[in-house]
Amino acid sequence: MNDVHLVHIGNQTIGKGKPILVQTMYDDSLPIDRKSAEELLIRIGKLNMMGCDIIRFSYPSKNDHAVFKYLCKSSPIPIVADIHFDHTLALDAIEAGAHKIRINPGTIGARWKVDEVVRAAKDHDIAIRIGLNSGSLPRKEASSPAKLMSDTALEYLDWFERLSFTNTVISLKGSDTDLTIEANRLFAKESSYPIHLGVTEAGSVISAVTRSTWALGTLLSEGIGNTLRISITGEIETEIQAGVELLRTLGLRKKGIRVVSCPRCGRHTFDTMGFLASVEEELLTIDKDLTVAIMGCQVNGPGEAKAADVAVAGIGNAIFLYEKGVLSKKVKTEEAKDALLETIRNAE
Ligand code: SF4
Repeated sequence: MNDVHLVHIGNQTIGKGKPILVQTMYDDSLPIDRKSAEELLIRIGKLNMMGCDIIRFSYPSKNDHAVFKYLCKSSPIPIVADIHFDHTLALDAIEAGAHKIRINPGTIGARWKVDEVVRAAKDHDIAIRIGLNSGSLPRKEASSPAKLMSDTALEYLDWFERLSFTNTVISLKGSDTDLTIEANRLFAKESSYPIHLGVTEAGSVISAVTRSTWALGTLLSEGIGNTLRISITGEIETEIQAGVELLRTLGLRKKGIRVVSCPRCGRHTFDTMGFLASVEEELLTIDKDLTVAIMGCQVNGPGEAKAADVAVAGIGNAIFLYEKGVLSKKVKTEEAKDALLETIRNAE
């Protein structure tokens, strides 16, 4: 499939030729008062600086309307409402200003209910993600579960097109990586609609990142996928870090700090692990295309440090800062974090 099908979601456009976007899903219920909503907006702003492009919220009750409306209006990134079973919640979230809603038409019930949601999305010029998980498919004949997922998605798209709605994204997810890869490959052969990639119920950080990197990395390297989420039973900041790192590793995203750090061995005299932990979150929010090295000894440290744009190499309590391979400063351990961040901020 070589056609280009673009979908707009708030201020973002996805599809062939457009940047791959990183998503996450808020891990709590919507705030109940204005102050908590304002705090959440600050967190969304920070997630955005770390590389998050879209955020999804569960929308389980119309009581959330006012706060959801406020978030949709004030968020720097598009907001998605996740709807299950009750189509009136989808209508309510659309009314509140959602930039996209995520539904599985198969769990909404009667056809006219889905029709109403599609028409409302069209009237408000927003996107719909048809989200199919391997565990919630219609019982139908197909040669494989992957084929069933892909065929079901194509049928739903056909249905939406009959209602003159094409601002649709598809996701075909399973907790089984082979199934996820196969279903998305089959779908991408048949359709040019944008695809949101993910592996569901992937576990805690190590298993989630490993499984998602394998499945999503395989698909992205074949040119399949337009948005992604690394689902982790953990912090959403970690999901963003993992998603951005995957895209950077595949050469699909340039901006942001690339950290090179030594794993430590018996020669280390500078605690690179503790130092990286203390500085990592701030590094993730810096929007510069730089390689930063953090090295722990006098054997390989200075050599590796010279290959990076900015580097610190620790030797005992003496921390050496390098810029473009040239030694620029020597500071004490306790001054190293501020010195590194200042050097990065001033770097061209
Ligand atoms: S840079 Fe030094 S401390 Fe770090 S792993 Fe290499 S030899 Fe060991």
